[in-house]
Amino acid sequence: MTNIAFIGLGNMGNPMAANLVKSGLNVTGFDLVAGNLSQAEANGLAIASTAAAAVDGADVIITMLPAGAHVLSVYEEILPYAKPGALLIDSSTIDVESARQAHKMAADRKMLSVDAPVSGGVGGAEAGTLTFMAGGSKEAFALAEPILDPMAGRVVYCGDGGAGQAAKICNNMILGISMIGAGEAFVLAEKLGLSHQALFDVASTSSGQCWSINTYCPVPGPVPTSPANNDYKPGFAAALMLKDLKLAQEAAQSAGAVTPLGASALQLYGLFNAAGEGGTDFSGIINLLRGEEKK
Ligand code: NAD
Repeated sequence: MTNIAFIGLGNMGNPMAANLVKSGLNVTGFDLVAGNLSQAEANGLAIASTAAAAVDGADVIITMLPAGAHVLSVYEEILPYAKPGALLIDSSTIDVESARQAHKMAADRKMLSVDAPVSGGVGGAEAGTLTFMAGGSKEAFALAEPILDPMAGRVVYCGDGGAGQAAKICNNMILGISMIGAGEAFVLAEKLGLSHQALFDVASTSSGQCWSINTYCPVPGPVPTSPANNDYKPGFAAALMLKDLKLAQEAAQSAGAVTPLGASALQLYGLFNAAGEGGTDFSGIINLLRGEEKK
C-alpha cells in the first residue's frame, strides 16, 4: 500500500488528508498546532511527533503550508529522512521562485517533485473537488495524478516545475481584477438607478459575463449562493486574495511583465485588508468601492 506523509494540517490540509484516508491510503500527518493534530487523528491519520518522523517510510510526501519560506524550511528538515525515490508534492500557494528552489532541492537528491497548488477553497477541500494546477516533469506528474485524484475535481498539467504556481497566480490575478470590475459596475448601476437584478440579467448573458458575476455575484439577490447573501462570510477570504495578488506582482516584476490592473487590484485589496476586512470574503471589496466597510 502507498504510504503518504502529509505536512501542514490547517484549514485546507486537514480535509485534504481526510479524503486520502477515505480513499484507503495510509496517511501519517504532522503540524505544529496540537488542535490540528487531534482533528487529523479523528479523521483517521496516524500522527508523527516531527516532520522528519512523518516522512519515514513514506512513498509520497505532501505539503500544505502557508508560504514559500515554510516549504523550503520543511524541505530542509525532511529531505535527509525521506525514502530514496519518494515523490514530493507541494500544494501550498507559494512564489514561483521558491517553488523552483523546492524542485531543485528535490532534484539534488534525485527525487521527483510536483508543485500542485489548488483552487476551490475549504469547501472544495472537504468535498474532494479541488482543482490542482501541476508543474513538474511528466514522469513526476504521472506518479502524482492518481494520488491527487481523491482530493480533486480536476487535475491540470501546466508544464515544468513552477508552472502550477504560475497558473495559480495568473488565474487569481484575473479573479481579483474581475471582482473589482464587477463591483464597480454594480456600484455605478446603483448610482444610475439600475437594479442589481437588471444589471445581472444583462451582464450575465452578455459580453460582461464572468465568474465574478455569473457564479459569485458581489451583490445579494441574483446568485443566492454567493457570499453577498451571507454578510460576505468567506468563501475566499480577502487576506488570501491579497496574498495571491502580492505573489502575482512579485512574479510580474521579476519576469518583466506589465500588469497595471494587477497592481491596482493589489492596492485596493491592501486598503480593504488594512480596514480590518481580511477575514471578509473577497467579493466584499464592493463595500470599499461604495465607500462603506460593511453593508
Ligand atoms: P492554514 O494556515 O490553515 O494551514 C497551514 C498549516 O501549516 C497550519 O496548520 C500550520 O500550523 C502549518 N505549519 C506551518 N509551518 C509548519 C511546519 N514547519 N511544520 C508543520 N506544519 C506547519 O492555511 P490553509 O488555509 O490551510 O492554506 C494552506 C495553503 O493553501 C496556503 O498556501 C494557502 O494560500 C493555500 N490555499 C488556501 C485556500 C483557502 O481557502 N484556505 C485556498 C487555496 C489555496
